[in-house]
Amino acid sequence: MAIYSHSRLSTFEQCPLKFKYRYIDKIIPETGISIESHLGKIVHEVLEWLHRQVKEKNIPQIDEIISNYSKKWEEKYSDDIVYVKQELSQKEYFNKGIQFLVDYYNSYHPFKENTLDVEKKIILSLGEHNLIGFIDRLVYDSKKDRYEVHDYKTANNLPTQEKIDTDRQLALYSLAIKELFGKEKDVLLVWHYLAHNKKICSKRTNQQLKELKKEIIALIEKIESTTEFPSNKSVLCNWCEYKSLCQEFNCKPTKLKQEKLDIW
Ligand code: SF4
Repeated sequence: MAIYSHSRLSTFEQCPLKFKYRYIDKIIPETGISIESHLGKIVHEVLEWLHRQVKEKNIPQIDEIISNYSKKWEEKYSDDIVYVKQELSQKEYFNKGIQFLVDYYNSYHPFKENTLDVEKKIILSLGEHNLIGFIDRLVYDSKKDRYEVHDYKTANNLPTQEKIDTDRQLALYSLAIKELFGKEKDVLLVWHYLAHNKKICSKRTNQQLKELKKEIIALIEKIESTTEFPSNKSVLCNWCEYKSLCQEFNCKPTKLKQEKLDIW
């Protein structure tokens, strides 16, 4: 039995060769993460901390949030972080994160939602395999008897409602919540697009979730039976941490570091 994640499935769909580098050969990339990933990671960590504090009835002041963000940014920043776009400086990326957090704080303070958990681990059984995921924040609205799966996005793009209505990741988390709390339970999917200070919501019917489950099982079966992993060159190669190894860019693998631990 293999353990899958949404990221594992998406990597295979994006580029089978990248999938092979990451999940089969378990190669640790020699380049650092992108500045966008660094920003996203720190903002997620601060929002996780904020909601853990709120759960303990200790609502932080905005300056505590900024100070926590600055500390985490400094601790995790390293010189091998990659700037693909070269449009913004480190300081400008740093300030973007502050803006995200200030807008979020001003919009939701004093955080009355009934948060059940943050970074909640879910395991979804998909035929012979399991899918693991982490929900940024799980809320239960007792008045509506409804669960809410909240996800934070730090990218600049703002998807259309149509695109959100077909998003796969949170739909899979919706399936997991229904397996945990009951198929008849109402589950609302909530995306926070922090760069736009905008919340977008969607829902899935049980029929849609049933079809999604079938599609994902079929995709996993395809991955399990795959023996050839061709490259798939696209604009996303600019952010690929394996570009320096990739045949598409005339690179030959040199000495590769391999990771012993499993990567989801
Ligand atoms: S650089 Fe592009 S083609 Fe090469 S492994 Fe990465 S995503 Fe695939």
